[in-house]
Amino acid sequence: MAACNDYYYATRDPLGGAGDFTTAPEISQMFGELIGAALVDVWRRAGAPASVRYAELGPGRGTLAADALRVMRSAGLSPPVHLVETSPVLRQTQLEAVPGAVHHDRVGDLPGDGPLLLVANEFLDALPIRQHVGGVERHVEAIGGGLAFDRDGTIVESSPARDEAVQALAEGVVALGGAALIIDYGHVRTAPGDTLQAVKKHGFAPVLDRPGEQDLTSHVDFERVASIAREAGAFVSGPAEQGPWLERLGIQARARVLANAAPQRAGEIEDARARLCRPDQMGSLFKVLAIHSPEWPKPAGL
Ligand code: SAH
Repeated sequence: MAACNDYYYATRDPLGGAGDFTTAPEISQMFGELIGAALVDVWRRAGAPASVRYAELGPGRGTLAADALRVMRSAGLSPPVHLVETSPVLRQTQLEAVPGAVHHDRVGDLPGDGPLLLVANEFLDALPIRQHVGGVERHVEAIGGGLAFDRDGTIVESSPARDEAVQALAEGVVALGGAALIIDYGHVRTAPGDTLQAVKKHGFAPVLDRPGEQDLTSHVDFERVASIAREAGAFVSGPAEQGPWLERLGIQARARVLANAAPQRAGEIEDARARLCRPDQMGSLFKVLAIHSPEWPKPAGL
């Protein structure tokens, strides 16, 4: 899964209508704008430390960062920007969206000299997982020119790569101060189940087809993420469902302002709001968890 996704992201921009999948920031500017507003708010309530930094994990096209930073700047905050990204293709796109951003390979490489305002949207789901059946790790075998799993049964998933990223970011906000917003699809309680999925051209595909040519992800276990963050000494708020969270942050008011400014786009803006918030679309499956320093207040909306 690690090798497939490294190749997949290194060789293309998979986002948007012409690609394989569409993420919340690509649906509407409102998503990144509300995140920017929530970050400015928590920063002010933490005493507005001057040395704060904006950090994002797996920023895709840099759209969320650009929308969030625009709102932050209009509220008087222009932090240096640090992006964790391994794909050379997406690094280039991100620099066009956020000129001057500094790239890093891993969460643990983020700078250690100021509080972090950190965002990770649909990042953890792309990190590799392991699957176990009855305590034995499930492997993929090459059989007769194709690929197949070597065992079936009740599947228990784990993700050492995800655990390591969460631990590094929690240790970062504890040591430096700050708050992180983790947004992803997943479940609130740890439970067995096979959540590995492949997406190609906006539809599900068999997971072992075309290795490296389709997006492989799995659902994030938010109970595990929260417990790793707490063990590292961080405070955790949430998880909340994305729809109610965006509503508490004021998505309806923002949609009205945008629609008044561009009445010909009112339908499109309302469609985007519904897609982000409705429980039968992204509003319920997607969860938001904040990991913050014990010295910082909890971010709004959670
Ligand atoms: N956050 C963006 C993109 C999500 S797609 C959005 O919401 O639109 C996943 C992102 O994580 C891509 O930018 C991908 O290149 C990056 N990524 C995947 N695996 C990674 C890894 N191991 N280390 C760093 N970045 C990774």
